[in-house]
Amino acid sequence: MSAVIDQLGRPLGTLRISVTDRCNLRCRYCMPEEEYTWLPRSSLLTFEEITRLATTFAQLGVHTIRLTGGEPLLRRDLDQLVHSLVRVAGIHDVALTTNGLLLAGHAERLRAAGLHRVTVSLDTLRPERMAEFARSAHHADALAGIAAAQAAGFEHTKLNTVVVRGFNDDELVALARFAHERGIEPRFIEYMDVGGATGWRSDLVFDRTAILERLSAAFGPATPESKHADPHAPATRYRFANGLVVGIIASTTAPFCRDCDRARLTADGMYYRCLYAQDGFDLRRPLREGAGVVEVEQLIRTSWGERRDRGAEERTELADRGVLVQLEGLKADPRKEMHVRGG
Ligand code: SAM
Ligand code: SF4
Ligand code: SF4
Repeated sequence: MSAVIDQLGRPLGTLRISVTDRCNLRCRYCMPEEEYTWLPRSSLLTFEEITRLATTFAQLGVHTIRLTGGEPLLRRDLDQLVHSLVRVAGIHDVALTTNGLLLAGHAERLRAAGLHRVTVSLDTLRPERMAEFARSAHHADALAGIAAAQAAGFEHTKLNTVVVRGFNDDELVALARFAHERGIEPRFIEYMDVGGATGWRSDLVFDRTAILERLSAAFGPATPESKHADPHAPATRYRFANGLVVGIIASTTAPFCRDCDRARLTADGMYYRCLYAQDGFDLRRPLREGAGVVEVEQLIRTSWGERRDRGAEERTELADRGVLVQLEGLKADPRKEMHVRGG
């Protein structure tokens, strides 16, 4: 089987697999509501089913897998899935995005299973802010998770921070220092209007220019790094004179759809060609109805071949930009939520 290219010339290269829709945080930009409709447990793909689909995606060009959620470490025995995925032919890189709360108890086993990289999401260094913003008193656990990842020997670890104006924009320098001191690359993400971000407003976006200004005031001028090594990477990286390198993901004001090689798989087996896509493709049904590898492969090949998605870029063209999906729409189809689709 050969690799597949979409209508805009973009290959299929990365697969983001959401392994659960559950989460132990309630970040205001992702899960702000009191109640959610959860995917039925019987609908969740087994590890064997996920590995079969990953194998098919790999045959079509996927080389990188990122495990996400919800909070992926809530999925029991995740290291067993990692163990299988790193053995899939063509997969060179298996990474995990986690809020870190449970990482201390899992880091060593994940490393032993062959996980290549970890990204920890941390929006604040202040426990009281996390309590207010993510409804959790477990800030110390997130810090312990980061330390455990370091102790387990993970390299190229990243720290993801969603920057929300008036909430944590005053911590950018402290977060950058915190990461840099630990040999971790800080990455600042613009607040996106996607999925469960029902509280999104354009004035809450602290954009790339503002992020760079804030960092330059502390660290001096920044030089952009070439994207040569990975043209499909969502972050633009900037280097400061003290050696600090910061990634900025400007998904809201300067999206990078033209280079996007990412497909998404929900925990219940829906495949999406874009984070912003309104419709996906059910891969669980054919899998459970006994379809062969060739049939599932053909479905993915055809749909990727027809792909024209550039969701974030289209949002920037709107004159009056609000949230992508209203609350009623999210309730009617939870797969439109970021925590279900996998951020
Ligand atoms: N729970 C894990 C975590 O937080 O790392 C993995 C899933 S989470 C959906 C993946 C990433 O999406 C996180 O880094 C999170 O900060 C980001 N994210 C969620 N909602 C977002 C939004 N509205 N704008 C920008 N990034 C968002
Ligand atoms: Fe926060 Fe990640 Fe949970 Fe969303 S899925 S609420 S970003 S920890
Ligand atoms: Fe890719 Fe869609 Fe995000 Fe654009 S909006 S970068 S096409 S996932």
